[in-house]
Amino acid sequence: MDREKYDALVDTFFKWDQKAIVSIFEELLSAAEAEDGHRALRPMSQNYETAQANPEIHILPGNLKDARDAIFPYFWGTDSWNSPLHLENVRGPANHASLIGAVACLLKNPNLCTDRYSQRSNELEVKAITALANLIFYHTDDPWGVFTIGGTISNLYGAKIGIEKVIPGAMQKGLGGQRVVGICSQASHYSNQTVAGWVGIGTEQLESIPTDQDLAMRTDRLAERIESLYREGTKVAYVVATFGTTDGFGLDDIQAIREIIDRLASQYDQPTPQLHVDAAVGWALTFLTEYSGQRNTLEFSDELLGIVRRVQQHCAGLQYADSVTIDFHKLGRGHYPSSAFIVNRRADLKFLARSVSDTPYFAEADARRDPALFTLECSRPAIGPYSVMASLNAIGLEGWRMLIARSLELAEKLKQGLEQLDYCRVLNRNTPGPSVNWWVLPKGRNAEEIFQQLVAGELSEDQRNRYFSEIRRLLDKREKMMDPTLDARLGLTTDYGFRPGGVEVPAWKAVFFNPATDDAIVERIIYGLEELT
Ligand SMILES: *Cc1c(COP(=O)(O)O)cnc(C)c1O
Repeated sequence: MDREKYDALVDTFFKWDQKAIVSIFEELLSAAEAEDGHRALRPMSQNYETAQANPEIHILPGNLKDARDAIFPYFWGTDSWNSPLHLENVRGPANHASLIGAVACLLKNPNLCTDRYSQRSNELEVKAITALANLIFYHTDDPWGVFTIGGTISNLYGAKIGIEKVIPGAMQKGLGGQRVVGICSQASHYSNQTVAGWVGIGTEQLESIPTDQDLAMRTDRLAERIESLYREGTKVAYVVATFGTTDGFGLDDIQAIREIIDRLASQYDQPTPQLHVDAAVGWALTFLTEYSGQRNTLEFSDELLGIVRRVQQHCAGLQYADSVTIDFHKLGRGHYPSSAFIVNRRADLKFLARSVSDTPYFAEADARRDPALFTLECSRPAIGPYSVMASLNAIGLEGWRMLIARSLELAEKLKQGLEQLDYCRVLNRNTPGPSVNWWVLPKGRNAEEIFQQLVAGELSEDQRNRYFSEIRRLLDKREKMMDPTLDARLGLTTDYGFRPGGVEVPAWKAVFFNPATDDAIVERIIYGLEELT
């Protein structure tokens, strides 16, 4: 081999040429900032047509600028959701404290599978998990957990513990042909379907319980369902309570669910199902758990304090969970992937443990130092712990309270504005969260009346379809008429989570994730409806 060429290659790609690296960072930063500065600038259209046809690989070794050039058209074309006009989904800009954490992580590239490959980064994961657990469970003695690549996987861990609880040894022996079910609400995230399929109980064994008008699982129906499952001899492995549904921010009553599953399991002499809480979106409300309304140091309005009090009541329910999913890459405005799976009691991890002989290359494995003994993944990125600890401590509790409270305030403002319009109906009036689901019907219609008729089962299928298509059509029309530099981008959900008579109900949707979204943007949404309908 030509040693000179080889050495040049190693110098370019494995030595720290700080100047070269920093100058490319500067270029990328300035491109990102330039994109944000122009609201009229559109993301680039995709070119899937030839994406597979031309998967070029350069022949000769180049330099770091070639790396830049290879990705730049896609970097520039990709929307970082930094625009304050983005309200269509639970997605917003990542915070820059997280950026510092994530970049630091990338510089070291630790692997969290065992502390030999991650050294102190593993310790950082323990810290990050404990910090989040203290927020969530409020008072907890012995929590534990791991970062995963997303809420779906965190939910999978919860389901898996439940399966092991009702079929001990399923990890080794499988389900043995037994019927095992999981339970969630009709407003829960579709990842619960994914999980039921992947853990092997089958998506058809995922039972979904109807929700009430506030998008919370109906606990009366839950109790009925569990009783009839127990009577027919079916095992109930887990119940997933949702803390903040993705569209409308419904919050299940975790304490009531706890009471039901404990009572029925003991009555029917069954192992208690795992109570897993999917708080992928909703966990961030817990920043407000200890906010004192009396001292009110952040000068929240009376109205906001009222919402905060309701939030605090909901958060108190989290202590009844066995395990919880937290997506820091959602309301934590952290970088992907920063999802955490946390158990309230460390002992529950034994349900995930495989013996050391199953992971032979971790010879000196120790469950505390070597999460790979119980994780689904082998190699595991450390972006989560770095993003979480950098963000929590740079922004601080008070900072987080301001961020989440501002989201609640803007959502409330939009709800109140919409309530003034007869042809609109706010669908998630009582969920204290950053999202608003609502109907817009043509002027002259009384949306409240139509909603009540729908709930009472008084609308024919034809009538329903007409109203629902009006709701969709008006959103299409708004999209055609809107000024992309001034008008917020809204979302549409085809099923916001409450299904009267089993009917899926569409809704307009706005989610206040972006800290730069302001009152004027909300006002413009409301005034714009007057011209639209
Ligand atoms: C987003 C979301 C998930 C899935 O999380 P990912 O990180 O996208 O995998 C699960 N549950 C809820 C409620 C969510 O909003």
